[in-house]
Amino acid sequence: MSEPTPAEAFAALLARRGDDLVVLVDDFLRIASAGPEAGVLAERDADSLRGMSLIAAFGSAALDGLARRAISAGVVASGEADLGHLNARRFAVDAVPVRGGLVLSLHDISALRRIERVRRDFVANIGHELRTPLTSIKLLAETLSSGAVDDPATMRDFSTQVEREADHLAQLVDELLDLSTIESGATTLSLEALDPEEVVASCLERIGPVAERRDVRVVRLPRRDASVRAWADPARLGQALLNLAHNAVKYSHHGGEVRIGWEPIGDRVRFSVADDGIGVPDAHKERIFERFYKVDRSRVRQKDDTQLGGSAGLGLAIVRHIAEAHGGEVGMATEEGVGSTFWIEVPRAGD
Ligand code: ADP
Repeated sequence: MSEPTPAEAFAALLARRGDDLVVLVDDFLRIASAGPEAGVLAERDADSLRGMSLIAAFGSAALDGLARRAISAGVVASGEADLGHLNARRFAVDAVPVRGGLVLSLHDISALRRIERVRRDFVANIGHELRTPLTSIKLLAETLSSGAVDDPATMRDFSTQVEREADHLAQLVDELLDLSTIESGATTLSLEALDPEEVVASCLERIGPVAERRDVRVVRLPRRDASVRAWADPARLGQALLNLAHNAVKYSHHGGEVRIGWEPIGDRVRFSVADDGIGVPDAHKERIFERFYKVDRSRVRQKDDTQLGGSAGLGLAIVRHIAEAHGGEVGMATEEGVGSTFWIEVPRAGD
């Protein structure tokens, strides 16, 4: 069998490489042929790329350098290059010498790099969240064991602080495990037709003592259509609503009021928690349902944090995931200094 010409090899490669970008250049790095994807990347018709220099077509010194290396060494050169509009896409590039030139094969790895970045941020965030309470525990324990404190009241106070930080750590770990189970899709929801009134009543019962300690009044909004049922997992929906109620109490002022209720909206049931607390500044509204996103830790009165757990920025991410697992969604209306209403919608059960 005779050896394929570069043009034949290029055509065969083009047919096999699906979404990848392939470009054939001559020894002077002028484009001899380009696949359609290469045209998309260069923002012009692939045919019109013919005869252009590689650098003029794609404007990437990294790609040009790789190609030059492969030509001068006569061996395959591999690397990465940022290309496309605003260099927003990252490609893994292989430059393969052929007779009279090179075949360049470019594989888009932007998504992979994005995932890696998210994972790095995630680990950095967890590290930071774990480090803070651990540092406090260590300092408190050191002070206690050094014997520097001999007053029993102060010792008790230090021990209480250690306990509080340990509780915070435990809550953080629980939330992380919860989030990872929900995110992985490993949770199977036990869906049933629920009386929304019972969901709200159970939430009120659970948030009551916390709100009381914080001098916040919790009220139930009047009952709507008694025949409506929500199609949801009682434990998960209860957890989501409780998270919203916790936040409403946490970000309320002393003497504030939290209102919990529900209403049918189209083919869904919306459970909402309204407060007249500190609200969310405009700049943060977009990102507040992301995991680890916090507006500002100092906004929560630290002294009262004990019953409310710490603030890791995971609560709303969990609520969002629970809503989405049900095929529903979350939302909010909020104004800084005035208050917020957060809601979760789940499907309405058929009559
Ligand atoms: P956190 O553990 O920090 O409360 P969440 O994910 O539950 O984490 O909330 C993210 C951020 O959203 C909080 O840090 C807070 O700044 C803001 N937030 C949530 N609920 C409310 C609310 N009802 N009123 C004002 N701000 C809120």
